[in-house]
Amino acid sequence: MTEIIDGNAVAAEIRAGLADGIATLADAGVTPCLATVLMSDDPASQTYVSMKHSDCEEVGIEARDYEIDPEAPADDLYATIDDLNADPSVHGILVQMPLPDHVDEREVLRRIDPAKDVDGFHPENVGRLVAGHPRFKPCTPHGIQKLLAAADVETEGADVVVVGRSNIVGKPMANLLIQKSKLGNATVTVCHSRTTDLAAKTRAADVVVAAAGVPEMIDGEMLSEGCVVVDVGINRVEADTEKGYELVGDVDFESAKEKASAITPVPGGVGPMTRAMLLWNTVKAAGDAEAVDVELP
Ligand code: NAD
Repeated sequence: MTEIIDGNAVAAEIRAGLADGIATLADAGVTPCLATVLMSDDPASQTYVSMKHSDCEEVGIEARDYEIDPEAPADDLYATIDDLNADPSVHGILVQMPLPDHVDEREVLRRIDPAKDVDGFHPENVGRLVAGHPRFKPCTPHGIQKLLAAADVETEGADVVVVGRSNIVGKPMANLLIQKSKLGNATVTVCHSRTTDLAAKTRAADVVVAAAGVPEMIDGEMLSEGCVVVDVGINRVEADTEKGYELVGDVDFESAKEKASAITPVPGGVGPMTRAMLLWNTVKAAGDAEAVDVELP
């Protein structure tokens, strides 16, 4: 029987576990606070930000909303970041990507105080992760580690293939999995758009993490019997539904399920974990900033 790894259930456990840390902070008179900054008219970005706010509300994190006209000069965004960096009541800052073309995304990532960088994309935090002493782990790969642990998947000694080398998923995933740690200690191969014979690589893997953004590109033929499949992809494809589309992953779920011993679905797999780990990082940021010893799930 293939195990369908339930990201909604594991994310709910993480949120419940965070309640203890939030209560400890409350005893010390601290309410963790996440500031989100949106500089976009894109409905998807607006939806992501509003979901982050409702997640915060549910667990008792204060969420503050900053919106900047997408036509405004980049300096308006930089000034907002500077103000949030200087505000001691704000523990986490999240600038929703993508940004308008006239804004330098790298400058934005560098500008956020690394101690408030709950996405974990500041170069200092990336460096710390690579060096093996992370402050904030990026939410999606951190969530995947928690998901694998919850499904009792041992990464120690496992051959893991990560498909995708982006800065937000593929690279930090590989970096986390090679760390000398309980949820690491894997042997990792990172594949990407220039990889030759991807199927040979994925077939040799005990665990495949698919993060390419290509609908259903990994099917059962590309997998070995009994492997574990983590599908990060969220792709809109045209479909005969009310909305005119449906969301599919990077994995062809039906054929992959026939081979895998465990697999994450889309939706309901990695997505909810990404959301939960943002809360996790915000609670950690508050504990660190206020020197309160917070236990994290
Ligand atoms: P990206 O476009 O930045 O990176 C995609 C990577 O995949 C690139 O490194 C590219 O080299 C590689 N790639 C592309 N085509 C390939 C191919 N045919 N074979 C092998 N490698 C190939 O994307 P991203 O931001 O890393 O996101 C990847 C997917 O994960 C997207 O579908 C995105 O929507 C989804 N995503 C989901 C979550 C979540 O919480 N579930 C979070 C982030 C991203």
